[in-house]
Amino acid sequence: MRAWLARRRGPAGAPAAFLDRDGTLNRNTHGVYITRPEQLKLYARVPAALKLLAKKGYRLIVLSNQSGVGRGYMTLAAARAISLELVEQLRREGVELDAVYFCPHAPSEGCACRKPAPGLLEEALADRRLDLRRSFVAGDKASDLRLALRAGLKGYLVMTGAGKAAAAAGKHAAFRDLLALARAVPDFNDKELK
Ligand SMILES: [Mg+2]
Ligand SMILES: [Zn+2]
Repeated sequence: MRAWLARRRGPAGAPAAFLDRDGTLNRNTHGVYITRPEQLKLYARVPAALKLLAKKGYRLIVLSNQSGVGRGYMTLAAARAISLELVEQLRREGVELDAVYFCPHAPSEGCACRKPAPGLLEEALADRRLDLRRSFVAGDKASDLRLALRAGLKGYLVMTGAGKAAAAAGKHAAFRDLLALARAVPDFNDKELK
């Protein structure tokens, strides 16, 4: 479901960076759910990473599994409040997200939006005209990469959060963190590439 959408639309047909949240943007301990806004701690290099991605022409769209709602660890209102906290913390760092979506369901509910199901991505596409061919998914888990595979776009693993274990388990292109990834992806504001 949509937690937040920027009023500013931006150019249609732009590429998007579809970003996982926990373990990619903010600290996350395996098995520990973030259930209150004050528990959200960004990784130090994430604002710089997001600024660089925006400068390269990517819309910044967060897609997050928040099964803590469906499991009864937090309310839907709490999950929304944490999403808004993310938007605010990044804004204070000079980063404007474009949209935040999350799946509130438990795995047992078999919903269409828990990654790797493409529901959140489809919601983003209903809200914005995006160029999927130039877009990518970034996350710290195999489910993020499977989403990319299923939706037919590029997927990159970051070795923050659960990423080290995921990188060891599969043969994925893995980056040290989101800033290393941001430095590696194409710059669509570079006229040479257009
Ligand atoms: Mg994650
Ligand atoms: Zn869902």
